[in-house]
Amino acid sequence: MALDRKQTPNDLNAFWMPFTANRQFKKNPRMFVAAKDMHYTTSDGRQVLDGTAGLWCCNAGHCRPKITEAIQKQAAELDYAPAFQMGHPIAFELANRLVDIAPKGIEHVFYTNSGSESVETALKLAIAYHRARGDGARTRLIGRERGYHGVNFGGISVGGIVTNRKMFGSLLTGVDHMPHTHLPHLNAYTKGQPEHGANLADELERIVALHGAETIAAVIVEPMAGSTGVLMPPKGYLEKLRAITKKHGILLIFDEVITGFGRLGSAFASQHFDVLPDMMTTAKGLTNGVIPMGAVLTTGEVHDAFMQGPEHMIELFHGYTYSGNPIASAAGIATLDTYKEEGLFERASELAPYWEEALHSLRGLPHVIDIRNMGLIGAVELEPMAGEPTKRAFTAFLNAYEKGILIRTTGDIIAMSPPLIISKAEIDQLIGTLADVLKTLP
Ligand code: PMP
Repeated sequence: MALDRKQTPNDLNAFWMPFTANRQFKKNPRMFVAAKDMHYTTSDGRQVLDGTAGLWCCNAGHCRPKITEAIQKQAAELDYAPAFQMGHPIAFELANRLVDIAPKGIEHVFYTNSGSESVETALKLAIAYHRARGDGARTRLIGRERGYHGVNFGGISVGGIVTNRKMFGSLLTGVDHMPHTHLPHLNAYTKGQPEHGANLADELERIVALHGAETIAAVIVEPMAGSTGVLMPPKGYLEKLRAITKKHGILLIFDEVITGFGRLGSAFASQHFDVLPDMMTTAKGLTNGVIPMGAVLTTGEVHDAFMQGPEHMIELFHGYTYSGNPIASAAGIATLDTYKEEGLFERASELAPYWEEALHSLRGLPHVIDIRNMGLIGAVELEPMAGEPTKRAFTAFLNAYEKGILIRTTGDIIAMSPPLIISKAEIDQLIGTLADVLKTLP
């Protein structure tokens, strides 16, 4: 008998859910069965306003006809073709479109299937880049505390989230971490970029002095750290990182998996902050979250080092069965068309002041200790609850869901990143409902 997909199945045991407390969830499951534009429909027929663009990815909202149609058409025409020693035009077209919207200097695209794979690819490319230039001793990698770079071994090694690392053994060697830039005692309630903390970039000089620049391949940071609580770069910080890395011949990788595709009001954060990295990792908004796809974007210089390097490095011994998959590429092109036709990046930028005011109206509510925002992303940090295993923010998430809004939490922080099609009335609903939830928290 066919399963009615609108019903919650009786047995939830087989699906081992990621980043989910499986035992708790399965006692009281929350299921979405449909989505349209700004809303999800739950299995009990309720509408939930999407305050997080799924997982920071559905930047154009849900079930957008142009994207759906492009996927259907491509699936019927050319479903799969390898990208190893073969090509199909649509992957090349998408690469050109990505270069068109990327900052000047970014000229090449290497496809992956996720943010995590983009990170692994960028880290490997960084090491191989130096090798191609005859600088093979440069293998060390530098990340940052509270950095999230996906879940594969390279990503958790350069990442700075203890819980994501400690179950999984000894990880990559040759990795250092710079300090994070979250300085609540100095920067609480800052709107946009905080004033204090640019000097934290100088820690990079200390790490370089410790190991020698000639051993270091790359520094990877999120230009704005998303998953660990929406942490804005202090004014001048990214510029300093760029200057120090350049001075020492170290590649700078921006992990733009969240910040890419309009979240801050520009196509990429590197344009918003006017700092050009050597590589950018992307995923999520590349296909509006609809089909798994990621991409590493590189400068001409990074790419050309391989092309002009030793003969044996012209073929890159790296790639995925689904790199540049035709259906994902079609989804990517239709997504970029949708962003462009609807002016969604500009829209994010125009709505940003309204979003900022709405978010900061939560100041003074019980337990709120900080609010951060930029573009169409924001976070509300709550006071930790002494001795309680369940964080207040998670209770807020559960109550918010019951009241019809989807928010996301990490520790004591509530994060929001709505689709860029959100209206002012929906911002009011999102923030108004969150205010009601905050007022009734334990
Ligand atoms: N990097 C960053 C900055 C991210 O935010 C994420 C996902 N939240 C990833 C990498 C990993 O992406 P994925 O889950 O697609 O592997």
